[in-house]
Amino acid sequence: MKLSNRVQTLTPSQTLAITAKAKALKDAGHDVIGLGAGEPDFNTPNFIIEAAKKAMDDGLTRYTPSGGVLELRQAIANKMFKDHQLNYEPDQVVVTTGAKHALYTLFQVLLNKGDEVIVPTPYWVSYPEQIKLAEGKPVYVKGEESNQFKLTKEQLEQAITEKTRAVIINSPSNPTGMMYTKEELEALGEICVKHNIIIVSDEIYEKLIYTDQKHISIAQLSEQLKKQTVIINGVSKSHAMTGWRIGYAVGRKTIIKAMTNLASHSTSNPTSMSQYGALAAYSHDDQPIEEMKAAFKERLDQTHEKLNQLPGVTCLKPSGAFYLFPNVKEAIEQTGFETTEEWVKAILEEEKVALVPGAGFGAPDNVRLSYAIHLDQLDEAITRIDRFIKRHI
Ligand code: PLP
Repeated sequence: MKLSNRVQTLTPSQTLAITAKAKALKDAGHDVIGLGAGEPDFNTPNFIIEAAKKAMDDGLTRYTPSGGVLELRQAIANKMFKDHQLNYEPDQVVVTTGAKHALYTLFQVLLNKGDEVIVPTPYWVSYPEQIKLAEGKPVYVKGEESNQFKLTKEQLEQAITEKTRAVIINSPSNPTGMMYTKEELEALGEICVKHNIIIVSDEIYEKLIYTDQKHISIAQLSEQLKKQTVIINGVSKSHAMTGWRIGYAVGRKTIIKAMTNLASHSTSNPTSMSQYGALAAYSHDDQPIEEMKAAFKERLDQTHEKLNQLPGVTCLKPSGAFYLFPNVKEAIEQTGFETTEEWVKAILEEEKVALVPGAGFGAPDNVRLSYAIHLDQLDEAITRIDRFIKRHI
Protein backbone atom coordinates (compact mmCIF):
# COMPACT_ATOMS: atom_id res chain seq x y z
CA MET A 1 0.00 0.00 0.00
CA LYS A 2 1.51 3.29 -1.08
CA LEU A 3 1.31 5.99 1.55
CA SER A 4 2.02 9.70 1.18
CA ASN A 5 5.61 10.93 1.28
CA ARG A 6 4.51 13.10 4.17
CA VAL A 7 3.94 10.21 6.55
CA GLN A 8 6.79 8.03 5.36
CA THR A 9 9.40 9.93 7.34
CA LEU A 10 7.21 10.16 10.41
CA THR A 11 8.72 8.39 13.42
CA PRO A 12 6.23 7.07 15.96
CA SER A 13 6.28 8.77 19.37
CA GLN A 14 8.94 6.94 21.41
CA THR A 15 7.22 7.72 24.67
CA LEU A 16 3.99 6.13 23.52
CA ALA A 17 5.95 3.18 22.08
CA ILE A 18 7.72 2.41 25.36
CA THR A 19 4.47 2.81 27.30
CA ALA A 20 2.81 0.32 24.90
CA LYS A 21 5.67 -2.17 25.27
CA ALA A 22 5.56 -1.92 29.05
CA LYS A 23 1.80 -2.43 28.95
CA ALA A 24 2.14 -5.50 26.75
CA LEU A 25 4.61 -7.03 29.25
CA LYS A 26 2.26 -6.15 32.10
CA ASP A 27 -0.68 -7.73 30.30
CA ALA A 28 1.42 -10.86 29.87
CA GLY A 29 1.64 -11.08 33.66
CA HIS A 30 5.02 -9.40 34.32
CA ASP A 31 5.50 -7.03 37.23
CA VAL A 32 6.47 -4.02 35.14
CA ILE A 33 7.14 -0.54 36.50
CA GLY A 34 6.47 2.00 33.78
CA LEU A 35 8.42 5.23 34.09
CA GLY A 36 7.43 6.37 30.62
CA ALA A 37 4.11 8.00 31.42
CA GLY A 38 3.56 11.55 30.27
CA GLU A 39 0.48 12.10 32.37
CA PRO A 40 -0.41 12.71 36.01
CA ASP A 41 -1.43 9.55 37.87
CA PHE A 42 -4.26 11.42 39.62
CA ASN A 43 -7.91 11.44 38.76
CA THR A 44 -9.48 14.54 37.29
CA PRO A 45 -10.91 16.55 40.23
CA ASN A 46 -14.52 15.68 40.89
CA PHE A 47 -15.96 19.15 40.42
CA ILE A 48 -14.69 19.08 36.82
CA ILE A 49 -16.30 15.71 36.18
CA GLU A 50 -19.55 17.01 37.66
CA ALA A 51 -19.46 20.08 35.41
CA ALA A 52 -19.05 17.90 32.31
CA LYS A 53 -21.90 15.63 33.45
CA LYS A 54 -24.10 18.66 33.97
CA ALA A 55 -23.21 19.94 30.49
CA MET A 56 -24.38 16.62 29.06
CA ASP A 57 -27.56 16.65 31.14
CA ASP A 58 -28.21 20.20 29.93
CA GLY A 59 -27.98 19.05 26.32
CA LEU A 60 -24.62 20.70 25.57
CA THR A 61 -23.68 17.77 23.40
CA ARG A 62 -23.70 19.38 19.97
CA TYR A 63 -21.17 21.09 17.72
CA THR A 64 -19.67 24.21 19.25
CA PRO A 65 -17.91 27.10 17.50
CA SER A 66 -14.67 25.78 15.96
CA GLY A 67 -12.45 27.84 18.23
CA GLY A 68 -14.33 26.76 21.37
CA VAL A 69 -17.29 28.17 23.29
CA LEU A 70 -17.10 31.84 24.16
CA GLU A 71 -17.32 31.25 27.94
CA LEU A 72 -14.21 29.06 27.83
CA ARG A 73 -12.27 31.43 25.60
CA GLN A 74 -13.19 34.25 27.99
CA ALA A 75 -12.13 32.13 31.00
CA ILE A 76 -8.76 31.46 29.31
CA ALA A 77 -8.33 35.18 28.61
CA ASN A 78 -9.11 35.85 32.29
CA LYS A 79 -6.56 33.24 33.34
CA MET A 80 -3.91 34.93 31.20
CA PHE A 81 -4.58 38.17 33.02
CA LYS A 82 -4.68 36.60 36.47
CA ASP A 83 -1.49 34.56 36.04
CA HIS A 84 0.57 36.78 33.75
CA GLN A 85 -1.10 40.21 33.62
CA LEU A 86 -1.60 39.66 29.92
CA ASN A 87 -4.63 41.22 28.24
CA TYR A 88 -6.22 39.16 25.48
CA GLU A 89 -9.65 39.27 23.87
CA PRO A 90 -11.57 35.98 23.50
CA ASP A 91 -10.93 36.11 19.74
CA GLN A 92 -7.23 35.85 20.52
CA VAL A 93 -7.86 32.38 21.95
CA VAL A 94 -8.48 29.14 20.05
CA VAL A 95 -9.42 26.04 22.02
CA THR A 96 -8.08 22.84 20.49
CA THR A 97 -8.15 19.08 20.87
CA GLY A 98 -5.28 19.09 23.36
CA ALA A 99 -2.19 21.29 23.31
CA LYS A 100 -0.67 18.84 20.85
CA HIS A 101 -3.24 19.79 18.26
CA ALA A 102 -2.78 23.48 19.02
CA LEU A 103 0.90 23.05 18.12
CA TYR A 104 0.10 20.98 15.05
CA THR A 105 -2.34 23.58 13.77
CA LEU A 106 0.02 26.43 14.60
CA PHE A 107 2.84 24.97 12.50
CA GLN A 108 0.38 24.33 9.68
CA VAL A 109 -0.65 27.98 9.59
CA LEU A 110 2.82 29.46 10.15
CA LEU A 111 5.14 27.49 7.92
CA ASN A 112 5.80 27.34 4.21
CA LYS A 113 8.03 24.74 2.62
CA GLY A 114 11.58 25.11 3.91
CA ASP A 115 10.78 27.57 6.70
CA GLU A 116 12.96 26.92 9.70
CA VAL A 117 11.93 26.52 13.30
CA ILE A 118 14.60 26.56 15.99
CA VAL A 119 14.11 23.61 18.31
CA PRO A 120 16.33 23.65 21.40
CA THR A 121 17.40 20.13 22.42
CA PRO A 122 16.41 18.17 24.42
CA TYR A 123 12.94 18.70 22.97
CA TRP A 124 9.49 17.24 23.33
CA VAL A 125 9.23 14.44 20.77
CA SER A 126 6.36 15.83 18.71
CA TYR A 127 7.86 19.24 17.81
CA PRO A 128 10.15 18.04 14.99
CA GLU A 129 7.54 15.71 13.51
CA GLN A 130 4.88 18.40 13.51
CA ILE A 131 7.25 20.90 11.92
CA LYS A 132 8.15 18.40 9.21
CA LEU A 133 4.48 17.61 8.60
CA ALA A 134 4.03 21.31 7.86
CA GLU A 135 6.97 21.07 5.40
CA GLY A 136 9.12 23.13 7.72
CA LYS A 137 12.63 22.32 8.84
CA PRO A 138 13.53 21.81 12.50
CA VAL A 139 16.88 23.41 13.31
CA TYR A 140 18.29 21.82 16.44
CA VAL A 141 20.34 23.79 18.90
CA LYS A 142 21.95 21.81 21.68
CA GLY A 143 21.05 22.91 25.18
CA GLU A 144 24.16 22.08 27.20
CA GLU A 145 23.73 20.14 30.40
CA SER A 146 26.18 22.59 32.00
CA ASN A 147 23.62 25.32 31.26
CA GLN A 148 20.71 23.21 32.54
CA PHE A 149 19.97 22.22 28.93
CA LYS A 150 18.83 25.77 28.17
CA LEU A 151 19.22 27.74 24.96
CA THR A 152 21.46 30.81 25.26
CA LYS A 153 21.07 34.13 23.54
CA GLU A 154 24.31 33.54 21.60
CA GLN A 155 23.21 30.10 20.42
CA LEU A 156 19.86 31.47 19.31
CA GLU A 157 21.43 34.30 17.34
CA GLN A 158 23.86 31.94 15.65
CA ALA A 159 21.10 29.58 14.56
CA ILE A 160 19.01 32.28 12.90
CA THR A 161 19.00 32.41 9.11
CA GLU A 162 16.88 34.18 6.50
CA LYS A 163 14.48 31.27 6.66
CA THR A 164 13.92 31.27 10.42
CA ARG A 165 10.27 31.70 11.16
CA ALA A 166 9.95 30.65 14.80
CA VAL A 167 11.66 29.35 17.91
CA ILE A 168 10.20 27.04 20.52
CA ILE A 169 10.49 27.81 24.20
CA ASN A 170 9.18 25.11 26.51
CA SER A 171 9.44 26.14 30.16
CA PRO A 172 9.22 24.12 32.35
CA SER A 173 10.57 21.64 29.86
CA ASN A 174 9.62 18.15 28.89
CA PRO A 175 11.93 16.17 29.20
CA THR A 176 14.35 18.13 31.43
CA GLY A 177 12.01 19.93 33.86
CA MET A 178 14.25 23.02 33.60
CA MET A 179 12.87 26.56 33.61
CA TYR A 180 14.06 29.79 32.09
CA THR A 181 14.55 32.78 34.39
CA LYS A 182 13.14 36.20 33.58
CA GLU A 183 16.62 37.42 32.62
CA GLU A 184 17.18 34.50 30.28
CA LEU A 185 13.83 35.07 28.61
CA GLU A 186 14.58 38.78 28.24
CA ALA A 187 17.86 37.95 26.54
CA LEU A 188 16.23 35.47 24.15
CA GLY A 189 13.32 37.84 23.57
CA GLU A 190 15.68 40.61 22.54
CA ILE A 191 17.05 38.43 19.73
CA CYS A 192 13.57 37.37 18.63
CA VAL A 193 12.48 41.00 18.39
CA LYS A 194 15.65 41.98 16.53
CA HIS A 195 15.05 39.28 13.90
CA ASN A 196 11.24 39.38 13.99
CA ILE A 197 10.88 35.73 14.91
CA ILE A 198 7.73 34.16 16.28
CA ILE A 199 8.04 32.56 19.69
CA VAL A 200 6.08 29.40 20.30
CA SER A 201 5.88 29.37 24.08
CA ASP A 202 4.74 25.96 25.27
CA GLU A 203 3.61 26.54 28.86
CA ILE A 204 1.80 23.26 29.45
CA TYR A 205 3.79 22.53 32.67
CA GLU A 206 3.43 26.05 34.01
CA LYS A 207 1.45 25.00 37.10
CA LEU A 208 3.81 22.19 38.10
CA ILE A 209 6.78 24.02 39.62
CA TYR A 210 8.48 22.85 42.82
CA THR A 211 10.79 25.75 43.63
CA ASP A 212 10.11 29.37 44.58
CA GLN A 213 10.73 30.40 40.99
CA LYS A 214 7.63 31.97 39.49
CA HIS A 215 6.56 30.98 36.03
CA ILE A 216 7.15 33.80 33.55
CA SER A 217 5.67 33.83 30.10
CA ILE A 218 7.95 35.48 27.56
CA ALA A 219 4.83 37.24 26.24
CA GLN A 220 4.54 39.29 29.42
CA LEU A 221 7.97 40.90 29.08
CA SER A 222 7.01 43.58 26.54
CA GLU A 223 4.21 44.61 24.19
CA GLN A 224 6.37 43.63 21.22
CA LEU A 225 7.11 40.19 22.67
CA LYS A 226 3.41 39.71 23.33
CA LYS A 227 2.77 40.38 19.62
CA GLN A 228 5.42 37.91 18.53
CA THR A 229 4.46 35.12 20.93
CA VAL A 230 1.87 32.38 20.62
CA ILE A 231 1.27 30.79 24.00
CA ILE A 232 0.37 27.11 24.02
CA ASN A 233 -1.23 25.64 27.09
CA GLY A 234 -3.99 23.30 28.23
CA VAL A 235 -5.56 21.46 31.13
CA SER A 236 -4.02 18.00 30.52
CA LYS A 237 -1.14 18.28 32.96
CA SER A 238 -2.37 21.00 35.32
CA HIS A 239 -5.73 19.39 36.05
CA ALA A 240 -5.01 15.72 35.34
CA MET A 241 -7.22 15.88 32.25
CA THR A 242 -5.12 14.17 29.57
CA GLY A 243 -8.03 12.16 28.19
CA TRP A 244 -10.33 15.14 27.87
CA ARG A 245 -8.24 16.61 25.05
CA ILE A 246 -8.49 20.32 25.75
CA GLY A 247 -5.63 22.67 24.93
CA TYR A 248 -5.40 26.13 23.45
CA ALA A 249 -3.32 28.76 21.72
CA VAL A 250 -3.33 32.45 22.57
CA GLY A 251 -1.84 35.15 20.38
CA ARG A 252 -2.34 37.56 17.50
CA LYS A 253 -5.77 37.61 15.93
CA THR A 254 -4.51 36.78 12.42
CA ILE A 255 -2.80 33.61 13.61
CA ILE A 256 -5.67 32.56 15.87
CA LYS A 257 -8.21 33.16 13.13
CA ALA A 258 -6.24 31.02 10.68
CA MET A 259 -5.92 28.27 13.27
CA THR A 260 -9.66 28.42 13.91
CA ASN A 261 -10.39 28.17 10.18
CA LEU A 262 -8.14 25.17 9.87
CA ALA A 263 -9.84 23.50 12.85
CA SER A 264 -13.22 24.11 11.21
CA HIS A 265 -12.08 21.73 8.43
CA SER A 266 -10.24 19.21 10.58
CA THR A 267 -11.72 18.69 14.06
CA SER A 268 -14.79 20.98 13.68
CA ASN A 269 -14.48 21.75 17.38
CA PRO A 270 -12.99 20.34 20.56
CA THR A 271 -15.38 17.96 22.39
CA SER A 272 -18.26 19.97 23.81
CA MET A 273 -18.51 18.44 27.30
CA SER A 274 -14.74 18.52 27.71
CA GLN A 275 -14.88 22.25 27.08
CA TYR A 276 -17.34 22.63 29.97
CA GLY A 277 -15.05 20.55 32.15
CA ALA A 278 -12.16 22.87 31.27
CA LEU A 279 -14.39 25.87 31.96
CA ALA A 280 -15.02 24.53 35.47
CA ALA A 281 -11.26 23.99 35.93
CA TYR A 282 -10.52 27.62 35.05
CA SER A 283 -13.42 28.97 37.09
CA HIS A 284 -11.94 27.38 40.24
CA ASP A 285 -8.91 28.34 42.31
CA ASP A 286 -5.67 26.36 42.05
CA GLN A 287 -6.16 24.34 45.26
CA PRO A 288 -6.69 20.98 43.47
CA ILE A 289 -3.40 21.54 41.64
CA GLU A 290 -1.61 22.25 44.93
CA GLU A 291 -2.51 18.81 46.30
CA MET A 292 -1.16 17.06 43.22
CA LYS A 293 1.95 19.24 43.31
CA ALA A 294 2.75 18.32 46.92
CA ALA A 295 2.80 14.62 45.98
CA PHE A 296 4.97 15.29 42.91
CA LYS A 297 7.42 17.32 44.98
CA GLU A 298 7.90 14.59 47.56
CA ARG A 299 8.57 12.05 44.79
CA LEU A 300 10.94 14.39 43.01
CA ASP A 301 13.02 15.13 46.12
CA GLN A 302 13.38 11.50 47.09
CA THR A 303 13.91 10.02 43.65
CA HIS A 304 16.35 12.70 42.56
CA GLU A 305 18.58 11.97 45.53
CA LYS A 306 18.47 8.21 44.99
CA LEU A 307 19.20 8.52 41.27
CA ASN A 308 22.37 10.45 41.98
CA GLN A 309 23.58 7.59 44.17
CA LEU A 310 23.43 5.09 41.29
CA PRO A 311 26.85 4.22 39.85
CA GLY A 312 27.64 6.29 36.75
CA VAL A 313 24.40 8.30 36.92
CA THR A 314 24.19 12.06 37.41
CA CYS A 315 20.97 14.02 37.45
CA LEU A 316 20.31 17.74 37.56
CA LYS A 317 17.45 18.76 39.79
CA PRO A 318 14.46 19.81 37.71
CA SER A 319 12.33 22.78 38.74
CA GLY A 320 9.07 21.66 37.20
CA ALA A 321 7.01 19.18 35.13
CA PHE A 322 7.16 15.54 36.34
CA TYR A 323 10.25 14.13 34.69
CA LEU A 324 13.84 13.43 35.68
CA PHE A 325 16.42 13.39 32.92
CA PRO A 326 19.60 11.77 34.26
CA ASN A 327 22.79 11.47 32.28
CA VAL A 328 23.62 7.76 32.11
CA LYS A 329 26.62 7.86 29.76
CA GLU A 330 29.06 6.54 32.36
CA ALA A 331 26.67 3.88 33.60
CA ILE A 332 26.24 2.63 30.04
CA GLU A 333 30.00 2.49 29.51
CA GLN A 334 30.60 0.78 32.84
CA THR A 335 27.96 -1.85 32.13
CA GLY A 336 29.37 -2.59 28.68
CA PHE A 337 26.46 -1.44 26.50
CA GLU A 338 26.87 0.44 23.22
CA THR A 339 23.82 2.70 23.17
CA THR A 340 21.21 4.10 25.50
CA GLU A 341 18.50 2.26 23.56
CA GLU A 342 20.19 -1.11 24.19
CA TRP A 343 20.68 -0.25 27.85
CA VAL A 344 17.04 0.76 28.27
CA LYS A 345 15.88 -2.36 26.45
CA ALA A 346 17.98 -4.59 28.71
CA ILE A 347 16.60 -2.91 31.83
CA LEU A 348 13.06 -3.51 30.60
CA GLU A 349 13.78 -7.14 29.77
CA GLU A 350 15.81 -8.01 32.85
CA GLU A 351 14.33 -5.84 35.55
CA LYS A 352 10.95 -4.90 34.06
CA VAL A 353 11.47 -1.18 34.43
CA ALA A 354 10.45 1.00 31.48
CA LEU A 355 12.58 4.11 30.89
CA VAL A 356 12.52 6.30 27.79
CA PRO A 357 15.86 6.62 25.93
CA GLY A 358 16.98 10.21 25.45
CA ALA A 359 17.64 9.92 21.70
CA GLY A 360 13.97 10.56 20.97
CA PHE A 361 14.38 13.90 22.73
CA GLY A 362 17.64 14.69 20.96
CA ALA A 363 19.84 13.83 23.98
CA PRO A 364 21.35 10.35 23.52
CA ASP A 365 23.32 10.32 26.79
CA ASN A 366 20.21 10.67 28.93
CA VAL A 367 17.07 8.77 29.81
CA ARG A 368 13.73 10.13 30.90
CA LEU A 369 11.88 8.91 33.97
CA SER A 370 8.44 10.11 34.78
CA TYR A 371 7.61 10.38 38.48
CA ALA A 372 3.91 10.39 37.83
CA ILE A 373 3.65 7.08 39.67
CA HIS A 374 3.39 6.08 43.31
CA LEU A 375 6.44 6.63 45.53
CA ASP A 376 6.71 2.93 46.47
CA GLN A 377 6.89 2.03 42.80
CA LEU A 378 9.52 4.69 42.19
CA ASP A 379 11.62 3.34 45.05
CA GLU A 380 11.31 -0.18 43.72
CA ALA A 381 12.27 1.01 40.21
CA ILE A 382 15.45 2.66 41.48
CA THR A 383 16.33 -0.48 43.47
CA ARG A 384 15.95 -2.56 40.31
CA ILE A 385 18.04 -0.19 38.17
CA ASP A 386 20.72 -0.22 40.87
CA ARG A 387 20.69 -4.01 40.85
CA PHE A 388 20.90 -4.04 37.04
CA ILE A 389 23.90 -1.70 36.95
CA LYS A 390 25.78 -3.54 39.70
CA ARG A 391 25.13 -6.89 38.04
CA HIS A 392 26.63 -5.70 34.74
CA ILE A 393 29.62 -3.73 36.04
N1 PLP B 1 3.67 20.08 25.10
C1 PLP B 1 4.47 19.32 25.88
C2 PLP B 1 5.82 19.81 26.22
C3 PLP B 1 4.01 18.07 26.37
O1 PLP B 1 4.80 17.33 27.14
C4 PLP B 1 2.73 17.64 25.99
C5 PLP B 1 2.23 16.31 26.41
O2 PLP B 1 2.96 15.39 26.68
C6 PLP B 1 1.94 18.46 25.20
C7 PLP B 1 2.45 19.68 24.76
C8 PLP B 1 0.56 18.07 24.73
O3 PLP B 1 -0.38 18.00 25.73
P1 PLP B 1 -1.90 17.67 25.42
O4 PLP B 1 -2.05 17.46 23.98
O5 PLP B 1 -2.26 16.48 26.23
O6 PLP B 1 -2.67 18.88 25.88
